[in-house]
Amino acid sequence: MPAGDWRQAWREAVTDAGELLALLGLSPLAVRLPPADAGFALRVPRGFVARMRHGDARDPLLLQVLPQLAELDEVPGFVTDAVGDLAAREAQGVLHKYHGRALLIASGSCAINCRYCFRRHFPYGEEMAAAGQWRKALEHLRQDPGIGELILSGGDPLALSTAKLEELSRGLADLPHVARLRIHTRLPVVLPERIDDAFTNWLATLPLQKVVVLHANHANEFDASVDAACARLRDAGATLLNQSVLLRGVNDDAGVLAALSERLFAAGVLPYYLHQLDRVQGAAHFEVDDARALALLDALRARLPGYLVPKLVREVGGDPSKRPL
Ligand SMILES: *Cc1c(COP(=O)(O)O)cnc(C)c1O
Ligand code: SF4
Repeated sequence: MPAGDWRQAWREAVTDAGELLALLGLSPLAVRLPPADAGFALRVPRGFVARMRHGDARDPLLLQVLPQLAELDEVPGFVTDAVGDLAAREAQGVLHKYHGRALLIASGSCAINCRYCFRRHFPYGEEMAAAGQWRKALEHLRQDPGIGELILSGGDPLALSTAKLEELSRGLADLPHVARLRIHTRLPVVLPERIDDAFTNWLATLPLQKVVVLHANHANEFDASVDAACARLRDAGATLLNQSVLLRGVNDDAGVLAALSERLFAAGVLPYYLHQLDRVQGAAHFEVDDARALALLDALRARLPGYLVPKLVREVGGDPSKRPL
C-alpha cells in the first residue's frame, strides 16, 4: 500500500449527519439529531460506514458514532474527567497511574469520534507528548527506571505520522529500562489503510517487545481489510489484543459479545478488557448496570473457551489497576 494513502482516507471521513444517513438509506426524519456539537462533531471513516447495515437506524456501528439527543441530558455522576486523568498527569502528555507502565497521550486526534468516549472533554491542547520531539516525556521516562513498559495512547497515537513515531523510537534508544512498547489504537479497525509499509517497517525493526491493543466493540467492525491490517501487525512482531466498551444497544448481549470474541480470534486477536463505561457527561444512555454486566460475563463464560472471555473491568481514579467487577 503506497505511503500517504491513509491521510486521504482520513480526510475523506464523513462529518455530516445528513450525508451519513443518506449513505445508509435512512430518512433524516427517522432520527432525531441534537444540534451540531462543535467540540465533538460527528466523524466516521467511509470504510467503517461501509460495514454498517443499510436501512437500519439501530445498527451497532452507527450507534457508536451518531450523535443522539440523549447526549444533552445532564445525569448525576456523569462528569467531564471521569477517570482522574488530570490528577495522574506527571509531565507534558505523561500519565503514570500504574506500577511499571507509563502512558503517553501521544496525539489528540482520532479518525473516528466515538460518542461514549472520555476524549470529548479532555483538554488535549496542552497534553501532546509528541510536542518538541517528545522531549519532556522522554525526560520523565529517563528519570524513572521502574518504567518497563511504555504505552502510546491518545486520542489515537497512530494519528501521528510514521516520521513522528521514528523520532520517539530514536529517543527510546537510550532508555534501556523500557523493554516493551504498547500501542492503544482504533485505527487498524476504523482506518486499516494506516497499517501501511512504512509503519509496519518501523514496527518490525523496533528493538522492543510490541503489543498492539485494538478497540472493537462488535464483530461487524471486522472485514477483509481489517483482517489484513491485523495480519500485517502480527507479521511485524506485535502481539494483538482487543479492548471493548460495554455499550447499551451496541453489544450488551451475550450472543453479540461471543461473536465478537470469535471474530477477534479469527483475526488473530485475543480479547483483553471489556470496560464498564467511563461515566463521562453525555454518555449516560450507553450505560449497562453492573448486575447485567456480570450476568453477561457469566453467559460468556458458559459458552466460550476461557481465553476468549475478556476481563470485565472499570477504571476508578486513584486505584492501582483497572478494577475487576
Ligand atoms: C489503562 C491504563 C494503563 C494500562 O493498564 P493495563 O491494566 O496494563 O492494561 C496504563 N496507564 C494508564 C494511565 C491507564 O489508564
Ligand atoms: S480515543 Fe478511542 S474511543 Fe475515543 S474517540 Fe478516539 S478512537 Fe474512539
